[in-house]
Amino acid sequence: MPVTWSGILSTGRSEAIHHDPRLPLPVALRIHPRARRLRLRLDAARDLLLLTCPPRSSRRAALDWAATQRDWVAARLAEAIPSQPLEPGAVIPIEGQETRLEWLEHGSRNVSLSHGVLACGGPREAFARRIENWLRARARDLLSDDTAEAARKAGVSVRRVSIGDAGTRWGSCSASGSIRYNWRLVLAPPTVRRWVVAHEVAHRLHMNHGPAFKALEAELFDGDAETARLLLRRIGPGLKRVGRSV
Ligand SMILES: [Zn+2]
Repeated sequence: MPVTWSGILSTGRSEAIHHDPRLPLPVALRIHPRARRLRLRLDAARDLLLLTCPPRSSRRAALDWAATQRDWVAARLAEAIPSQPLEPGAVIPIEGQETRLEWLEHGSRNVSLSHGVLACGGPREAFARRIENWLRARARDLLSDDTAEAARKAGVSVRRVSIGDAGTRWGSCSASGSIRYNWRLVLAPPTVRRWVVAHEVAHRLHMNHGPAFKALEAELFDGDAETARLLLRRIGPGLKRVGRSV
């Protein structure tokens, strides 16, 4: 079950993300004026821990306390959406199609996709890395093509398309004209992926979500943006568990 913001946390405005090697997920630290003690929550959708602190908390003390809650964190993770490591036999979506991962002990190290099976050989311990590299490369190809097409339609330039693993966002567009996508968009149905592209390319002209932005987004996207947005909201948390082992 995805864990969402509680009322008290949603009133906070800024948060700082910390990567603490003692904890399995990044920690979003927030000071809340009315908090009287430290509180830890799991946000499975964003794949991070929310740590709410009373005013004047020490960041170090707060993180030290959070680190003592590791067992609690592990239990919450287990009962939230299960992770889906990239291992032989696993079934993952690729462009929305169920695909089985297969390791061929004596097969080629090159990853190949055929008839709903994504297979490769090479050392077993390198399997997950090979599959993820292939997925990232596929994501880069698809998203570069989609972006070029949308940019042409919009009459804008895109300086650079890059692929990453930003925990919270599916895409982001910088003022300098670079667009960055989460590689897990390759898992989503093409319509969802293209909506994210239309959204980010529309930001090349409008750095807000106003009416002009919405109109351009609708023009660039061959479908209903709201339907695609809701679909991504529903399937997104599950997609974000693919390729993770915790
Ligand atoms: Zn936006």
